[in-house]
Amino acid sequence: MPGPIVIIGAGQAGVQIAESLRHEKYDGPIALLGAEAHGPYNRPPLSKKWLLERGSVASLAIRSLEVLERRKIDLHTQTTVTAVDRAARTVTCADGRQYAYGGLALATGARLRTLPIPGADLRNVLGLRTLDDAQLIGEALDACVAAGQPLVVIGGGFIGLEVAATARKRGLAVTVLEGLDRLMSRVVAPIVSEAAAQLHRSHGVELVFGARVAELLGSAGAVRAVRMADGREYPAGCVVVGVGVEPEDTLARAAGLECDRGIVVDACARSSDPQIVAAGDCCARRTAAGTLLRLESVQNAVEQGMAAAASLLGHERPVKSAPWFWSDQYDVRLQMVGLSQGYEEVVTRGEVAQFTFSAFYFRGGRLLAVDSLNHPHYHMLSRRLLDRGLSPTPAQAADENFNLQSLLAAPG
Ligand SMILES: Cc1cc2nc3c(=O)[nH]c(=O)nc-3n(C[C@H](O)[C@H](O)[C@H](O)COP(=O)(O)OP(=O)(O)OC[C@H]3O[C@@H](n4cnc5c(N)ncnc54)[C@H](O)[C@@H]3O)c2cc1C
Repeated sequence: MPGPIVIIGAGQAGVQIAESLRHEKYDGPIALLGAEAHGPYNRPPLSKKWLLERGSVASLAIRSLEVLERRKIDLHTQTTVTAVDRAARTVTCADGRQYAYGGLALATGARLRTLPIPGADLRNVLGLRTLDDAQLIGEALDACVAAGQPLVVIGGGFIGLEVAATARKRGLAVTVLEGLDRLMSRVVAPIVSEAAAQLHRSHGVELVFGARVAELLGSAGAVRAVRMADGREYPAGCVVVGVGVEPEDTLARAAGLECDRGIVVDACARSSDPQIVAAGDCCARRTAAGTLLRLESVQNAVEQGMAAAASLLGHERPVKSAPWFWSDQYDVRLQMVGLSQGYEEVVTRGEVAQFTFSAFYFRGGRLLAVDSLNHPHYHMLSRRLLDRGLSPTPAQAADENFNLQSLLAAPG
């Protein structure tokens, strides 16, 4: 066994690697080093339920400190690693501490993209990645509610739209400014974008497409409005910027690991250094076709974390299952499985107007991906189909009378 093992990043992937190591009977030392003040916590509720209710911090924990202690996972919070020395096999932290490793895992997540425009540093211009960010947004929304001020969200992706939905539930006026011509355009087909737009409009959100944000205007250091390139202004007591993330691969780059918008890993989460694995949002996985795949999801962090732990112990446990993700907006749960890029045909099943349907994406007649809105049965079924490489025809997928489950009875 290659102890001691050091894990950089105490988020979803980091804690998964630690727990999987124990699960695979590694009993040597594990140091889990995290820059944040909190132990490992779930990020998905930060834009959804937790932002609305602002329950306890403990309710967000992925694993309690007691459980980590019992599993002899040595968590160090407020510990930022500043350098990896691959020759000496040590990592150095901001406070000067050093840790020697036999195996190293990078699970450093992602950092928010910022807006390169004047006013982006005003008070109440906020991004959402961490629990501390969510706390700030929650307080800013409280202040907006009290003062009757609106929220402006820049970016019509998942996180921006979830925050918009949460703010509407709290009664704030909300405008979403999206640079492209539809919502969540990076991931979903126009039919799903259109359903999401209708959903948000039905809850009173103003959606602006083709938005060119030029400047954030302030008063006494706090944001008061968003000014567009065409001169229009949208008043705001708070601006949430949801324009995506960049993989946090700074340490890996400096250490000379292969990186290409993320730490390049294989299906077993191995980096270009045999002693170092990486998992989660910081990675770009090389696919069998030779392309690089970046995923930002809990499922990816968990599955890649398991693969990384196995690799550290000299086993092969490649990530195999189709990628999946979810997003909650109002009373609609959007669930996605597979990768729809390059699709040629999309068919639907269910009631689009009722926000209860699935969109099935095909290329060359083969199923690539399925997006489901309040259609959990079809999401679960699609996961099983895609994991087994099974495909309905487009006509079967669209036909409510065709039993998709019957395809699972096929051998394979
Ligand atoms: C608001 C929000 C909502 C989301 N909703 C969903 C959802 O509905 N469904 C879904 O599947 N996914 C969702 N995600 C994405 C999901 O949470 C991430 O994909 C997942 O957390 C990735 O795990 P990770 O371990 O790679 O990164 P993280 O969980 O970000 O953990 C990385 C950790 O590494 C630490 N770190 C970085 N550099 C260093 C360093 N040098 N030294 C020490 N520590 C370091 C960071 O501080 C961070 O704590 C959401 C994310 C956010 C922010």
